Amino acid sequence: MCPWLSRVRDPARHRLASEGARHYPGLIARLNDEGFTDTGYARTGALAPAGPGDEVREIAERVGAPEAGDVTVLDPGEARRLFPPLRGDRPAVHITGAARVDGRRLRDTLLAAAERHGAGRRSGSAHVTLAGDGHWTVRVQDDLTEADAVVVAAGAWSARVLTSPGAPLPVVPQRGQIVHLRLSGADTAGWPIVLPQSDHYMLAFEDSRIVVGATRETGSGFDHRVTAGGLREVLDEAVSVAPGLADATVADVRVGFRPASLDERPLLGLVAPGLVVATGFGPSRPTSPSAVRRRSTWARTTRRARSPAEPQRSNTTSR
Ligand SMILES: Cc1cc2nc3c(=O)[nH]c(=O)nc-3n(C[C@H](O)[C@H](O)[C@H](O)COP(=O)(O)OP(=O)(O)OC[C@H]3O[C@@H](n4cnc5c(N)ncnc54)[C@H](O)[C@@H]3O)c2cc1C
Repeated sequence: MCPWLSRVRDPARHRLASEGARHYPGLIARLNDEGFTDTGYARTGALAPAGPGDEVREIAERVGAPEAGDVTVLDPGEARRLFPPLRGDRPAVHITGAARVDGRRLRDTLLAAAERHGAGRRSGSAHVTLAGDGHWTVRVQDDLTEADAVVVAAGAWSARVLTSPGAPLPVVPQRGQIVHLRLSGADTAGWPIVLPQSDHYMLAFEDSRIVVGATRETGSGFDHRVTAGGLREVLDEAVSVAPGLADATVADVRVGFRPASLDERPLLGLVAPGLVVATGFGPSRPTSPSAVRRRSTWARTTRRARSPAEPQRSNTTSR
């Protein structure tokens, strides 16, 4: 989690990502206060190695937010001390405020915390439809729940979950292939995230594991295959930035689907009275907890109708 390095092409989206990063420490502290300590969140800092021809000072100057922490330019040797597999000829920018999240662990912890606060949980495939009386119904197998307000946040599958009203949601899957490497014997727990000047990244976890990725395959559909081209792209990029990974064991290859809207911006907002859609957070930016907070407030408080499949872009980008 390090939105501060990105070039600001879309100020509103950048602000949303930055708000998300800013929101995390408070969220994690609240979970910890309630005894939920396995959050998968760790503030490890990030390294942004310069690419060929990159001016490392220019990269450092992009980072303007106080939440980014200390921003320093490291020579190649100093950068390698923090992330030993890195190549030895590139300086890097070090940003102490960056953090990593293990999504599965954080998801499980949030679900447990939500249940403690009274949330009910149903497991199975959900379908959301509009009942005749203006209420929404959520069907999970034989279980039917009526609701005044519903939030559809089913990622790339959101269009399948919401079958009414009107036109399908304009969200499609974008495949990502990602590789888990194991560096036997290495104590990787405190290693920083590595964010080269490309779409790829590396992050280390506690168990001598380095995750490298990922492809961004627009137009993939729900095609779960690991492909030769995808693997080559991910491993080529990783080994060119960090040659010390060449001898790592390939422990796992995972395939996921980012929810992508047609213009690659989030679909976040009210689409009908009592119906909020929150998806499209896929192609190029992290999921923002502040967006999560905002979507539930909208669902509870707003009953204004909007055109289906057109979640208020202006509101998404202006708040
Ligand atoms: C390989 C890969 C690497 C990535 N790396 C990063 C990264 O480093 N940093 C980052 O910020 N983002 C990353 N992303 C993107 C990030 O994962 C997505 O932006 C994020 O997961 C989208 O969140 P979401 O909650 O909208 O959707 P999802 O996380 O996809 O969640 C949707 C949920 O809806 C559920 N669902 C689907 N259909 C139904 C149904 N019918 N009924 C009930 N539930 C249903 C699914 O099971 C799932 O749990 C990566 C994505 C991929 C694929």
